[in-house]
Amino acid sequence: MKPAYPITTHTYDTVVVGAGGAGLRATLGMAARGLKTACITKVFPTRSHTVAAQGGISAALGNVGEDDWRWHMYDTVKGSDWLGDQDAIEYMCREAIPAVIELEHMGVPFSRTPEGKIYQRAFGGMTTHFGKGEARRTCAAADRTGHAILHTLYQQSLKHQAQFFIEYFALDLVMDEDGVCRGVLAWCLEDGSLHLFRAHMTVIATGGYGRVYFSCTSAHTCTGDGNAMVLRAGLPLQDMEFVQFHPTGIYGAGCLITEGVRGEGGYLTNSEGERFMERYAPHAKDLASRDVVSRAMTVEIREGRGVGPHKDHLLLHLEHLDPQIIHERLPGIAETARIFAGVDVTREPIPVIPTAHYNMGGIPTNLDAEVVTLRNDDPETPVPGLMAIGETACVSVHGANRLGSNSLLDIVVFGRAAAIRCAELVKPRRPHKTLSAAALEPLLARFDRIRHADGSLRVAEVRARMQRCMQNHAAVFRNAEVLREGLDQLREIAASFDDIRLSDRSLVWNTDLVEALELANLLPQALVTVAAALNRTESRGAHAREDYPERDDDHWLKHTLIWLDHGNASRIAYRPVHLKPLTADVAPIPPQPRVY
Ligand SMILES: Cc1cc2nc3c(=O)[nH]c(=O)nc-3n(C[C@H](O)[C@H](O)[C@H](O)COP(=O)(O)OP(=O)(O)OC[C@H]3O[C@@H](n4cnc5c(N)ncnc54)[C@H](O)[C@@H]3O)c2cc1C
Repeated sequence: MKPAYPITTHTYDTVVVGAGGAGLRATLGMAARGLKTACITKVFPTRSHTVAAQGGISAALGNVGEDDWRWHMYDTVKGSDWLGDQDAIEYMCREAIPAVIELEHMGVPFSRTPEGKIYQRAFGGMTTHFGKGEARRTCAAADRTGHAILHTLYQQSLKHQAQFFIEYFALDLVMDEDGVCRGVLAWCLEDGSLHLFRAHMTVIATGGYGRVYFSCTSAHTCTGDGNAMVLRAGLPLQDMEFVQFHPTGIYGAGCLITEGVRGEGGYLTNSEGERFMERYAPHAKDLASRDVVSRAMTVEIREGRGVGPHKDHLLLHLEHLDPQIIHERLPGIAETARIFAGVDVTREPIPVIPTAHYNMGGIPTNLDAEVVTLRNDDPETPVPGLMAIGETACVSVHGANRLGSNSLLDIVVFGRAAAIRCAELVKPRRPHKTLSAAALEPLLARFDRIRHADGSLRVAEVRARMQRCMQNHAAVFRNAEVLREGLDQLREIAASFDDIRLSDRSLVWNTDLVEALELANLLPQALVTVAAALNRTESRGAHAREDYPERDDDHWLKHTLIWLDHGNASRIAYRPVHLKPLTADVAPIPPQPRVY
């Protein structure tokens, strides 16, 4: 018998799924351009993970010392270990300056220099004069920059009268037989009703999938739902092997201590009290790029120089800083350290450990935020009706390793780009094509199957097994043996999902079902992450293979595209890296050895 769910249909010009920084910037831009726009979000907009961003947003404003967007572009290409697309990076770094000024004008309360300009701090891998000096490029609102940006963007979206569907859980993309996206199916958590959102453009802005790991800095809601919807729609994800570990998660709790702490003069030590980063990155030291610092910390711990009874973490110092500076510029982390580590940062160091933080990989898109796929040998073929922006997308501006403060930038720049492109592609109030009933059937059947799951395993057990497996098999260092073992385990764990049991069958605020749906989204992402990591036999950026320690440009200067065929992450193809910048007068940055 077919599951019977009454469905309410809504028609819009554009629908944005996600109300983090990326989703809101796109939503307000589309609404401002006269498109009838809906924004669907599973959490209240200002609870999206963007709210937790601390350190800041990069832009070569030059408010605190000299700067140039070309240096920002160079740093981002180098930070990406040359896997970033140079046209997209040029676009982002150039647009950064007007984007931040625009945020200021919208009302973001940035911290100020004594002259009243936007305050900028140093961040990892950010330099001047193509690697020669240290840049102060990261614009900050104390250590609560994401909070300030997200609230401002939400207010602006309301001003432009975008329509919000809050606490609606997007289940799946609605694709027609021609491979065109026609909208999205969502479940209203509050009253249990199902909704079909028809749109000429569906924009996925669902954020990262940090929660595949046991220890991560991201919110519990970061389950990469959009990535999983794309895999289920038969489309590929890109560069999923590249997962960023942030050097300074609080030991035990996983909460983030921003890189801004090191930007303000904080430093790391080992059990011998040594500032070990001087050995690994003689110039940049504690402000080397994140993959470099995380690897150095892991080596220190492995070689027995970790601190604590298990010698399994390191120390981050800021007790030498003026308490006034901590009070003004780092109040949030002082509070976080007190609550989660019991530490008074003006007196003692914070215990820290590298922690999963950011996903460089995601849904492949072009510069205009349009989702692309491989068709007739062309990996740049747009998927009609579908866009992706923010952490869920892979433009790719971060390549193999993202620089701190480049993600808040990415979300506003490409959120805006999506709005501009939508205004070109979508004519307001154009009627929608009728949809065959068959288009929704498999989506409803899947939802119904999970809702009525009656096996023997609890969702939490399966999730814990997946998270431990990822933590042990896809961490800072990888090798073939560990990855293969991880992949075998994950296949078995993913299969065990068929044996889960839900105790709540209702449709109203059923958090049991939400968690099951999120786990169903996480599992395929874990699989493709490990399969792509096993496939890439080189070390680049955040992907460090002990059995292939060198970067191999001859064979691997290319993006991975990976599909989930029949639940198995087995089909892999490649997309060339764009080594040519966008405009003719900008010089390409040819691959070089990456040293800090
Ligand atoms: C602790 C922390 C600190 C950070 N600090 C910085 C920093 O200082 N500088 C920097 O540049 N970057 C930082 N980052 C990274 C950056 O904040 C994120 O990459 C970025 O904010 C992601 O924005 P987003 O809009 O793509 O997604 P998110 O902000 O994660 O928003 C995702 C949205 O999608 C919605 N959603 C998801 N699934 C569904 C579904 N199934 N149905 C409906 N809605 C759904 C959610 O409700 C939410 O609104 C930090 C990240 C973390 C975790």
